[in-house]
Amino acid sequence: MQSGHEPVRPKWNCRECGLEWPCEYARRELTADFVRFPTSFAIYMAHCYSQALHDSPSLEALPPDLWTRFMGWLPRS
Ligand SMILES: [Zn+2]
Repeated sequence: MQSGHEPVRPKWNCRECGLEWPCEYARRELTADFVRFPTSFAIYMAHCYSQALHDSPSLEALPPDLWTRFMGWLPRS
């Protein structure tokens, strides 16, 4: 990713636009970067998801849609 639409931990908001990461721009970039590597793409996003889980101060503080936010939009092969 070269655009600066990267996550800022521990809140996982986008450094560039401030929205929840992956923002729309980051999703487009990631999809392009990993277009030939769908398995690596899923592993990378699962890794980010696990880091976001780890960054949450408590289970109660977890956003209910965290899985969908990180994993639910991945292209199906
Ligand atoms: Zn962004």
